[in-house]
Amino acid sequence: MASPQQKPFVCQTLPSEGCILQIPPTPLVPVKLGPEEPLIWCKLEFLNPSGSTKDRIAAHILGKAWRQGRLKKGDLVVEASSGSTSIAMAMVCAQLGLRFIAIMPEGVSNERSLIIRAFGGEVRKTPRDQGIVGAIAETERIAREERAFCPRQFENPENAEAHRFGTAHEIVSQLPGGTLEAFVSGVGTGGTLVGLYQGFRDQGIPAKPVAAIPIARGGDPSKGVGCFHAPETCCFSSRIPGVIERMSKIYQPDALEGIEELEIEDETALATARKLIREGFPVGPSSGLNYAAALEIARRLGPGAVVVTVLPDRMERYFSTELFGC
Ligand code: PMP
Repeated sequence: MASPQQKPFVCQTLPSEGCILQIPPTPLVPVKLGPEEPLIWCKLEFLNPSGSTKDRIAAHILGKAWRQGRLKKGDLVVEASSGSTSIAMAMVCAQLGLRFIAIMPEGVSNERSLIIRAFGGEVRKTPRDQGIVGAIAETERIAREERAFCPRQFENPENAEAHRFGTAHEIVSQLPGGTLEAFVSGVGTGGTLVGLYQGFRDQGIPAKPVAAIPIARGGDPSKGVGCFHAPETCCFSSRIPGVIERMSKIYQPDALEGIEELEIEDETALATARKLIREGFPVGPSSGLNYAAALEIARRLGPGAVVVTVLPDRMERYFSTELFGC
């Protein structure tokens, strides 16, 4: 039975045809990886219905367009992503009776395509060497030629809005004591970091924003979990899927007071993700990146500092990747 504080996980019927699952609040839990290690407050975003934090932006962007009459049953939605957003979009499209095409660069894990197809979505791959830039160009072509709705997660301010009015508010209401010194997130679209920044500032909390930047060292790009080493096409710069350099139009570091960009080696991020899994948190690589960066900030701030991070997605979509030794 749900506790009185928990919202029930129910289908909410929208004014017109179709229904969309409410995204229930995710837990915020204190996590320590060893007796001498600092404690980090983790927002368990992998517990969202499709397995990632992207359920928030899919429900928010598509739900808003649906309610405003910009989308109706049978319409086509197309989006470029490294996977998590496409999975979330595919799920919400299934709920609303929308058609969905996911455009992803070759090389992202097959588990993602399988999940999208299970939701009734179509997966189209763009050449690996063109990275996410090629996927976005193909998305724009389909949007133009087939009059498809395109959420444009890398530039749509509604992406950050979902975190500003959702994730940030949840965190503030869940933190015992209400204090918060710093918060940490990797940047893909930038929606999480920017939305949290805005949401915390709205509530008068001047916590320090920290962008966790993965640094690629070693590894075999051909075997990676979605790694594309081709800076000229602004592809995934590391072995941490979802965290993409220089693609976001939402993340403007100069607009975030006190921002720190903290570099974490890929190996450290992957090793930390494996540690979190051994502790019982079934997460993907970007959770390791975020946690490792949060640890460094917490160590620097000293005992008692309240540092929050997000664990964005679940481990199951990485079974065939180097996270699991493949
Ligand atoms: N982790 C994963 C697994 C992701 O898919 C993403 C987004 N693509 C991120 C982290 C980064 O979040 P954001 O897009 O909000 O910057």
